[in-house]
This record gives sequence, C-alpha cells and structure tokens, in this order.
Amino acid sequence: MAKTFQSLNPVTGDVIATYPITSTREVAEAVTIAYDAFERWSATGYRNRRKILHAYSKAILKEIDRLSDLVTLETGKPHSDAKLEIALAAHHIAWAAQNAENVLRTSHRTPGLLMANMSASVERSPLGPVGVIGPWNYPVFTPIGSIAYALAAGNTVVFKPSEYTPGVGIALGQLFAEVAGDEDVFQVITGLGETGAALCESGVKKVAFTGSTATAKKVAALCASTLTPVIAECGGKDPVIVASDADLAAAAEATVWSALSNAGQTCIGAERVYVDEKVADVFIEKVVEIASKIQAGNPESAQYGPATMPSQIKVIQSHVKDALKKGGVAAFGGLASIQGDFVQPVILLDVPEDSLAVTDETFGPTLVINRVADMETAIALSNASRYGLGASVWSRRKGKGIASQLQCGMVAINSTISFASVASVPFGGVKDSGYGRIHGPEGLLEFTFPRTIVRARFKLPLAITSFSRTEKTDRLIVKILTMLRGRLS
Ligand code: NDP
Repeated sequence: MAKTFQSLNPVTGDVIATYPITSTREVAEAVTIAYDAFERWSATGYRNRRKILHAYSKAILKEIDRLSDLVTLETGKPHSDAKLEIALAAHHIAWAAQNAENVLRTSHRTPGLLMANMSASVERSPLGPVGVIGPWNYPVFTPIGSIAYALAAGNTVVFKPSEYTPGVGIALGQLFAEVAGDEDVFQVITGLGETGAALCESGVKKVAFTGSTATAKKVAALCASTLTPVIAECGGKDPVIVASDADLAAAAEATVWSALSNAGQTCIGAERVYVDEKVADVFIEKVVEIASKIQAGNPESAQYGPATMPSQIKVIQSHVKDALKKGGVAAFGGLASIQGDFVQPVILLDVPEDSLAVTDETFGPTLVINRVADMETAIALSNASRYGLGASVWSRRKGKGIASQLQCGMVAINSTISFASVASVPFGGVKDSGYGRIHGPEGLLEFTFPRTIVRARFKLPLAITSFSRTEKTDRLIVKILTMLRGRLS
C-alpha cells in the first residue's frame, strides 16, 4: 500500500487531509513526464507562455478566497496575511510573464578587432525540468518566486511543497493545469524530506530550494553528485539599523510588524535592531507601546497565529532563556509569553552579541533591540552575522551610505521587506542565507543557460585557427595587441 502522511491544522491539531508520500520511483516518473512536457512547453514560445501565465495570475486572484482559506487552515496565519502573500505572488507571475521575452532575448556582442569578421551573440535557453522545494511559512509567495520565473523562461517544474502545506501546493498545481490545459508542465509531488531528497537526485536540471540553511546544505550535497545546480534561499537574521535622524514612529511601526507578523516566521523578518543610543529610549518606548497591543491567537481574531511547526517553540524558548541568562532584559513579555503553540510578543533589550537570540535564526515573534554608539558599530554588528539575507535601514539622510556597506542580498531603506514586493529586483542572500537569485531579470536568467554563437561573416587575411598559421601572423597579433594596449574592441 502507498505510504501517506497527514496535514494538520496548527491551531486545533485536527487532521485536515491525508496525502501520498511520493516514492523515489514516482518522483522519477514525474521527472520523465516533465522531460516530455518540456519539449512542448519550451517550443510553445514566449507569447503563448505569457498568455497562459497571465491567465494563471488572474485565476489565482479570482480564487484568492479559497486559496487563503487553505493557507490559513494549513499555516494558522490570519486570512488577511494569506491574501497579501497570494496577491503578491500573482503580481510576480504577471511580471515574469510580461518580461521573460525581453530579458531573455538574444543579445549581440562586439567581437573585437582581432575577430572583426565574426558576429557574436548569446542566446538564453531554458534548462529543462526544474525541481522546486518549498517551505511552509509563505506557501504561495515563496515557491511561486521560483515556479513562475522558471515557467516563464520555458522550463517545466516538479514542485515538492513542505509537508506542512501540501494542500496549498496541490491547489497551485491544479489551477495552473486548468488554465494551461496541461497537467504535465507544472506537477506537484507531496511527501516528506525523503521525497525532496529524491527530487534532488532525479535528474532535474536545477533545484530551486527554499528552506533552512541546514537542509540547503543537504540538498547541495545531494545535487553535487550529479553536478545539478542549486539555488539556495535559506534562513536569515535580518538586522534593522535605526539612525539618530530616523522617523522613529515609522521605524517602530514597521519593525514591530516585520518581527511579529506571521508569528515571526518570515525569513526576511526583523530579528535584531541596532539603534543609535541617542534615540534608543524613544524608539524602544514606541516599539513596546505597539507590541503591547498585538495578540497571538486564533487567526480569525488575533493579529497572528501559532507557530506552524510545533518544534520551533523549543528554539524560541531556548533563545529567550539564553538572552535573559546572559544579561539581556525583557522590555516586553518573556518566557511566560510562550503559551503552548502560541507565543505572545517578546521584546528583548541589550542582549549580548554572543547570545543565541542574536546569532541564530529565532523564527518566532521576538525582537532584540541593542543600543549602539554610532552607525559604524551598527554596520559592523549587522555584518558580524553568519547570515546575510535582508536588512532595513531607517535614516532620513544616511540610508544609502549605510545600505551599501551591508553584507546582505537586499536592503530596504525607510521601509521593511519592501524589496520582496518589487518584482523587478532580485531576491536572495549571501553567506549562510544562500546563493542564487529569484525574482527580477536575475530570477529569469537563473532558469536558463547562455549559449554563445559566434559566426564567421567573411574571411580575414590572417589565418589564426589553422596549422598554416605563420610566425609572421603570430608577430602581427602581438604587434596589434601591443599597439592597442590589449584593447581589441
Ligand atoms: P526546511 O529546511 O525544514 O524544509 C524546506 C523544504 O525542504 C521542505 O519542503 C522540506 O520537506 C524539504 N526537505 C527536508 N529535508 C530534505 C532533504 N533531505 N532533501 C530535500 N528536501 C528536504 O525549512 P522549513 O520548511 O522549516 O522553512 C523554514 C526555513 O525556510 C527558515 O529557515 C526560513 O528562514 C527559510 N525561508 C527562506 C526564505 C528565503 O527566500 N530565503 C523564504 C522562506 C523561508 P518537509 O517539509 O516535508 O520536511
């Protein structure tokens, strides 16, 4: 009998549905189907793909109520948050559809004087079937960041959603099959970690992974054996820098939302703040005032729900405990804020930099606020992390100067996580936050390979690629290059 697993409602613990655990053999079958479908999908051209993807984006918006019900059921997040992530995902699908042809069109290059008889161009070709492995925290927005861009570029997709959100994954696949009239272009396989591992070893042409850094390392190791390239979108410990000239009310409002919304389960959510000591007291007062009005609870009535993954509670607990033990101070909440699977807001002050709450991803509704003497210290401490995903900078005049010194993939100035909603910019991190990019032109390029084509337009008097090349030709090449100081174009 086929093995199955259950998807549970994190608010009630009730079983929502039972799904098959896709076996290694079935994963291989799905990938074979994806190879066949690739022939059709890549040949159908940009115009048809654009039409289908626009229809997909529209269908997602039309079905937003049903989809957000499903997201709420499987993650425990409020409907309004679910709707926001779905709407933004629809925006990304439309952007990828609209821009793929332009970004991926053949580019013509200057061949240089020595090769003046050549025309040189670079074509972008889709890779083939792409494996997408997704997390549960944004079960629509996050995988669509890979899926839409891969499909728009002409690839087919085999998607393994998180075991916590299989229903959302299946719904995304079904909607695409309906609008495309083809269920093989974008297939969804459900299962646990082993199904994801089987996908890595299945012969897909690339794996787009989003999840924890620890799993990304396993995925990269599996993919290494077949030289399968990987995009790794991993965890973060995003800093917020608040300068003395910041709009403190706006900074506090956005930072509290960034840290607490979705129960703190946002890869690019605020986890630690470095605030200029000159304005720290006012900023902290505002943060505490806002946080004190936020409640975790049933997603129907509260601002955020439970920890979707119950095992995360232990991590949150250990971080708060360690911070307090090492001398940090709770400005709001504390260990008592952890109530079963629900965690009420926790604001910690002056937490030593070697505490778990500063060094590791907490992924809970907690925020560390540390005072700094100047912006140089704020930048240095932000960069001291092993992570480098996103960051926010709040300053009326110094924002860009600070942003450009941060070792991370994305920075929002006077806003929070805004870069994720701008479809034209790449999304991704450095260091333990991963490599590769989704979104924007870079996100489309990730799902293609460059094919260089150099064509001889006429014969040159110099025979370079021939055994008949003479010493005179060699001397002439060196002479020309010397004359032009190495520049041939
Ligand atoms: P996990 O790393 O636990 O899981 C991610 C996906 O990998 C899941 O589908 C999981 O399946 C699958 N998986 C597990 N083991 C393997 C394996 N050995 N081989 C292949 N696939 C495997 O992450 P979470 O789902 O808990 O997501 C939370 C993490 O994701 C956080 O660290 C967060 O910061 C990060 N994240 C990063 C984002 C980014 O864009 N940088 C965006 C969103 C989240 P299963 O669920 O069945 O175990």
